[in-house]
Amino acid sequence: MSTISDRILDRIDFSSIFSQLRKVNARKVGVQLPDGLKFYAAELTEIFEKEGFEVIVSGKGSYGACDMDLELLDHCDYLLHFAHTPILRIDRVIYVPYQVDYPLEPFYQVKIPEKSIALIATAQYAWKLQEVKAVLEKKGYEVELKTGKELKYPGEVLGCNYTALQDVKADAVLFVGDGLFHPIGAAIYTGKKVYRLSPLSNEFEEVNVERFIRKRMAAIVKAMDGRKCGIIVSTKPGQKRERLALELKRRAKEKGLSCFVILTDEISAEKIYNFRADFLVNTACPRISYDDAEAFHVPVLTPQEFQIVLGERSFEDYAMDEIFRFRSPSPSTP
Ligand code: SF4
Repeated sequence: MSTISDRILDRIDFSSIFSQLRKVNARKVGVQLPDGLKFYAAELTEIFEKEGFEVIVSGKGSYGACDMDLELLDHCDYLLHFAHTPILRIDRVIYVPYQVDYPLEPFYQVKIPEKSIALIATAQYAWKLQEVKAVLEKKGYEVELKTGKELKYPGEVLGCNYTALQDVKADAVLFVGDGLFHPIGAAIYTGKKVYRLSPLSNEFEEVNVERFIRKRMAAIVKAMDGRKCGIIVSTKPGQKRERLALELKRRAKEKGLSCFVILTDEISAEKIYNFRADFLVNTACPRISYDDAEAFHVPVLTPQEFQIVLGERSFEDYAMDEIFRFRSPSPSTP
């Protein structure tokens, strides 16, 4: 019987990676894995060593396609970045996407009252959305499946890029996968009803964004009482928005706020605490504001939420943070 490990590694096209590496005479390769795949480090090392490559595994996190271990790249001929699809153009990097295989049966059972549906998923699930679309069309739905800016698969979304839903015409959105972070983002981005179906656990639900919005509004209102504000810039290549941070600082100072910019790789409550800011503005991954905010002692706002504090945007015009609008495809440009 095959193990989970066998099945995941079986869906990776190693022969194509080996030939790419041989073509450029790469000998020493870096392997960067997200936390959930780090326990494959030994197996992956053996797979590459058998083919004559030297391997060094990154000890850093790997939160998304934006998060490239450039330090490890300096030590190796090539870097293999696992589990994400390319959004940055970096020499000597090969992205190795990870695809979750899932059954199509749950889509035959799904009952969505709206007649037209836009399909979305994260990269791990999006590779199979064409097949999901065919099933839903057989059931009589009109299905929209568009490729977003910078993204590989039709229907693929990132927590900082919902352009697969730009100008969407469908009456509702169906998110395929786990967790509520992406479907909540899709609901705010489109203003439409969003459903979530996990084809592995068979969970189906309509996404409720009210609790999320209430929490974000509370954070904004609390920040409005603050005078001292720290603006965070990440050093991670695809999250680095230094220009935006400096521009926000300039606008904040015009409004009489005391403001400073902090450059850091990993953002944590412990690292930030000693700055004693009344609130923080996060120009790095928006997930830090949306998902990790409770770990911080002060509100952690997105740039769009900070605009509300500055009086440049209304509460009614609440918007998700989209990094791709500011991201340079080459990490050498801030
Ligand atoms: S910035 Fe955050 S949401 Fe965007 S790709 Fe990186 S980890 Fe994902």
